[in-house]
Amino acid sequence: MAALYVVFSILWLVLTEQLLQQWADSPLAVTLGRGINLLVWVLFSALLIFISRARLLNFIGIGAQLRNEDRERLRMAAAVFDTTLEGVLVTDRSGLIVHVNRAFMRITGYQQDEVIGQRPSKFKSGRHGPPFYQQIYTALEANGQWSGEIWNRRKNGEIYPQWQTICAIRDDNGELTHYVAVFSDISAIKHSEQELAYLAHHDPLTGLPNRLLFNDRAEQALAVAQANKRGCGLLLLDLDHFQSINDGLGHTIGDQLLKQVGERLRLILGNGVTLARLGGDEFGVLLENCQQVGQAATVAQDIIERMREPFSFEEHRLFISVSVGIGLFPSDALSAEQLLRNADAALFKAKTNGRACYALYTEELTAHAQHRVETASELRRALEQEELRVFFQPVHELASGRRIGFEALVRWQHPQRGLVPPGEFIPIAERTGLIAEIDAWVLRQACRQMVQWQAEGHELEFVAVNISSRLFGQRELYRQVAQVLDETGLDPALLELEVTESAVMEDPEVALEQLHRLRELGLRLAIDDFGTGYSSLLRLKRLPVQKLKIDQGFVAGLPGDEDDIAIVRVIIALARSMGMQVHAEGVEQAEQAQFLLAQECQLGQGYWFGRPVPAGDLRWD
Ligand code: C2E
Ligand code: MG
Ligand code: MG
Repeated sequence: MAALYVVFSILWLVLTEQLLQQWADSPLAVTLGRGINLLVWVLFSALLIFISRARLLNFIGIGAQLRNEDRERLRMAAAVFDTTLEGVLVTDRSGLIVHVNRAFMRITGYQQDEVIGQRPSKFKSGRHGPPFYQQIYTALEANGQWSGEIWNRRKNGEIYPQWQTICAIRDDNGELTHYVAVFSDISAIKHSEQELAYLAHHDPLTGLPNRLLFNDRAEQALAVAQANKRGCGLLLLDLDHFQSINDGLGHTIGDQLLKQVGERLRLILGNGVTLARLGGDEFGVLLENCQQVGQAATVAQDIIERMREPFSFEEHRLFISVSVGIGLFPSDALSAEQLLRNADAALFKAKTNGRACYALYTEELTAHAQHRVETASELRRALEQEELRVFFQPVHELASGRRIGFEALVRWQHPQRGLVPPGEFIPIAERTGLIAEIDAWVLRQACRQMVQWQAEGHELEFVAVNISSRLFGQRELYRQVAQVLDETGLDPALLELEVTESAVMEDPEVALEQLHRLRELGLRLAIDDFGTGYSSLLRLKRLPVQKLKIDQGFVAGLPGDEDDIAIVRVIIALARSMGMQVHAEGVEQAEQAQFLLAQECQLGQGYWFGRPVPAGDLRWD
């Protein structure tokens, strides 16, 4: 600017002087012309001073006083810049760091020479995605400024939150020259915020969620359950006679007991379940994805039993018991609030029923759940004490009337209830996981029996064993069957495994793989209860199955019911077209057997031929 001013001034004075020399015709005109030139020059100079006061004054050496003021201001700015608690970082217009202050070095752990010439992206924490940074650039471009919370990384790798203001700096001509970022480390504030939030939502004694958080989680769980059409269970637990422990042994022991109860509950329930201390001696448990009454009742029973084990303190051993109230969504409540109220009413019922037990909202539900839980625990005992029995039902060839095989059907010889049919305990065993042991046991017994019949010279083509749909998806099944065949020495060609149509159709791809593997063992496969599972014919065709068993529901209506006749005919035609054998279940009358034979069904099973009986009761004549 100064150079321009000098050049222009000289040019102006020289040119105008020459023009005056050439064109002015009298000394007066020359003097007048010079006066005008000077006036123009002064006006021009004044304009420049106005535009760029400081620079011009510096240049012509008359701004010493002002320069001192500026220096003073700069010194002060530098002092503030250096002593401020906020970190300051300056980059040039291309984003390269040109300056940082002391606070910056203290907060980030970097020295000046480690960051000069680098880009601020060096401090990225990885917590923000590209859209976050894009929004900063957009704000800087539009408003010249951005403020907000941003997570960065210190030199030691720790990430931390900072409150940051970034300004775009422009020169007098509006050209972008620098960016200045000023920030403060807010990790301490954040930490106390978190601490506050934690305190607001947790019980300080046990460290468990409190009522507030529990209610919140219950509402969330119900919303998820509703969306996924699933059930949810809520258990309210109350220690029995806790007040007398508090009164008799003091609050310190009472508190220690509550802590230990919390720890034991956590151990019983595992980490995936929400457990809360709702106040006093009351705890809450949220069972997400709880489909059955029995499931919640099993958890409650488990808790009740495990709480009976003593709690020990220095010189005390304390025995306590707990009562549990169960609320279920959606069967007895549709909102979290109602669920809690129902569980509370159920808890009251458990207390009045004599404590150390659980109760559901209604009597029927309680009785139903109790029956299931009792059966589950008794079933475990039944397996250990060998109360299960295998019965054998004959299968006949319809054309010849010859008995050619048996189906193994499990029974439970209950010490009080007598002979319990599988329909009453198989579904419970499936839910509690005991089914694997039961099916393996039946398979072993059936194979052993078949080996014995073979040794005795009985002519049989197969023994059939049912495999639960629960085991069907598991790879374990193949190993188990192979092991039993190996152990018992039964020729695999004499073993037939029955899987229900619904089990196969639940996950056809897994079924296909599983069936192929089982076939590799050399055994035969049958689809049980056929006609009830909405099979896809296309899929059925791909299955390596040798037999379809027509469900007894269709046989029952034969030979009179038009619909049953039509269905049975279709199944037989279908099986024949796919090269499979057809086997009719539930044949109770001679006419049914005759009708089936007329339709070219090969095999029949049912009370007409013989009921399921223990192997010892079979007649061989
Ligand atoms: P399923 O495999 O379809 O067995 C046939 C069922 O029909 C048996 O009932 C049998 O007693 C009954 N039944 C046979 N003939 C007649 C008849 O003429 N009329 C009538 N009304 N019923 C007849 P059960 O023994 O009660 O077994 C029921 C179901 O329990 C079986 O159906 C099978 O799905 C399952 N099951 C039985 N034993 C086992 C086992 O060891 N493991 C597994 N996973 N399931 C088993
Ligand atoms: Mg069967
Ligand atoms: Mg069946």
